[in-house]
Amino acid sequence: MSAYRHIRIPTTGEKISIKNGQLHVPDQPIVGYVEGDGIGPDITKACLRIWDAAVEKAYGGKRKIHWCETYLGEKAAGLYDGNYCPDETIKALADLVVSIKGPLTTPVGGGFRSLNVALRQDLDLYACVRPVRHYAGVPSPLKRPDKVDVVIFRENTEDVYTGIEYKAGSPENEKLTKFLREEMKAKFFDGAGLGVKPISAFGTKRLVRKAIQYAIDNGRESVTLVHKGNIMKFTEGAFRNWGYEVAREEFGNVTITEEQLYAEYKGKQPEGKIVIKDRIADIMFQMMLLRPEEFDVIATMNLNGDYLSDAIAAEVGGVGIAPGANIGDHVAVFEATHGTAPKYANLNKVNPGSLLFSGVMMLEYMGWKEAADLITLVYPEVVSDGIVTYDFARQIDGAKEVGTSQFADALIERIQGGVDLEAKRKAQQAQLAKERKQREIRRLLQPMEEMVETGRVPHTVADLMTRALITVTDSETVETAMHVMTDNDISSVVVEADGKGEWGILTRRDIVSKIVHAGKNPATTRVKDICTRPVVSVPAEMSIREAAATLSRSNFSRVTVEQGGKIIGIVTETDIFNAVDKFAWALE
Ligand code: NAP
Repeated sequence: MSAYRHIRIPTTGEKISIKNGQLHVPDQPIVGYVEGDGIGPDITKACLRIWDAAVEKAYGGKRKIHWCETYLGEKAAGLYDGNYCPDETIKALADLVVSIKGPLTTPVGGGFRSLNVALRQDLDLYACVRPVRHYAGVPSPLKRPDKVDVVIFRENTEDVYTGIEYKAGSPENEKLTKFLREEMKAKFFDGAGLGVKPISAFGTKRLVRKAIQYAIDNGRESVTLVHKGNIMKFTEGAFRNWGYEVAREEFGNVTITEEQLYAEYKGKQPEGKIVIKDRIADIMFQMMLLRPEEFDVIATMNLNGDYLSDAIAAEVGGVGIAPGANIGDHVAVFEATHGTAPKYANLNKVNPGSLLFSGVMMLEYMGWKEAADLITLVYPEVVSDGIVTYDFARQIDGAKEVGTSQFADALIERIQGGVDLEAKRKAQQAQLAKERKQREIRRLLQPMEEMVETGRVPHTVADLMTRALITVTDSETVETAMHVMTDNDISSVVVEADGKGEWGILTRRDIVSKIVHAGKNPATTRVKDICTRPVVSVPAEMSIREAAATLSRSNFSRVTVEQGGKIIGIVTETDIFNAVDKFAWALE
């Protein structure tokens, strides 16, 4: 007997469970669903048919989902005396572990928590996961939308979304203002509204852990931590640091940092290792337009993630078909990311894509990849044939507009017709391997340019230095050294080690003071007579700020960079100037 008032748990299937910390999915699982409001019923009906057809085809009837309807939103209000978010639904979603929902109306007016917020909080669904990729045929503003294929892990429970806010003029605000000004010596304008931005090691690490685990499970190349740590050091900067920490401490054998990728592996990603990198949030927005193929799994905080998910979704055909999920330690609720579009309710008109692909994510989460792949592979075929709902039809010349259920019919027909999954997968893998190789070659050939073009912020002197050292020897004339400087358009040359193994440097300033001012002839003076020795060298892993301190202290305008007892490069004031100019205060 079901302990529920309205929810009927199917007696034919078996519940998904957690065994030894792992999701256990039986062949006949019970999966929860919420139809949703507005266009929800139209898209849900269509999608249930498509998912069932894909599962049936992929497993020849051996596997089948037993759907369990649960209620939220208007349908819940009708059944549960005006309650939009009944406790028993929350209980059922936790009990069933995996479920999927259509869009919901949040009633306007006081006293209602947004249903989506309620779900996240009550089920502790701390990761909002949004995969964004392009499907052939889908209209996009990018020239090469096919290069976008990322999965965004957005932290769902912290950041400025926790609602710790104090209205300007309120007694609470005045109390906090007084504390901040008098005790913390903080400075800000009068009458400011105040908000608090909590970012914790706990919240960060569980999110980043999930993102890295996803990258491992799905054979992804990298995880990028997106933050504004250059400005908000103790919140967003801490997120970055804790993110690297969790990678190092818990996934040390399967991850390397981007720094290691360049410094130790010369840009060639070792087999079986995931690269952990970080990007400043604003640079990330540029990069997702200019070099989207550099990014794979993204882990970020609530606010950055909110903006970034929609911006990236828009690159590949709009939020209308972007799928999503809110996931906790095990419980997962997959969802359409658009709203209820009430004007289209019950018109059999809208695009089921967002809910459909949320279901694809769900099948992947359940480990039913074959069924998921069937849908992903037939979808572009149908869209490329011009069979689309109204929203795409208005953007594609000559398209054949169909209703929601007819679009589902077309997909199901393709699914049932059969797809050579193996051949398609092989072609896809070959393409990915080729692109990966191309990226490796670029990193190998032009590491510096790659670093800048892919939005990486330099951290150490090794990231900035000129690696192609131009040198002269002691015995050459100053005149020859001057020609070397002119020909290479540089303001100094490194002088190779003398008998005692000491390296030197000869600069344009030396020419001014020790040749012209001193009245010497450059054609007859030897380099060794006027160069500076020993040079000031810094280790390759020194931070840029420390290197700047060394430059200021020594009064030199350049230092050489040393690694393993050898001079491997040179860093000048100009290099540091250019980096600050480009990356502002991002430099640590
Ligand atoms: P919306 O429902 O997402 O609709 C905005 C517009 O987006 C629609 O008018 C339509 O554009 C397009 N659109 C949305 N879904 C589509 C689909 N499946 N196929 C094709 N086009 C689609 O946003 P809204 O009007 O701001 O919000 C309406 C209600 O939804 C509100 O009550 C809001 O609270 C709720 N909402 C719920 C969720 C959720 O449950 N996850 C999320 C957001 C909003 P055109 O008019 O150009 O055709």
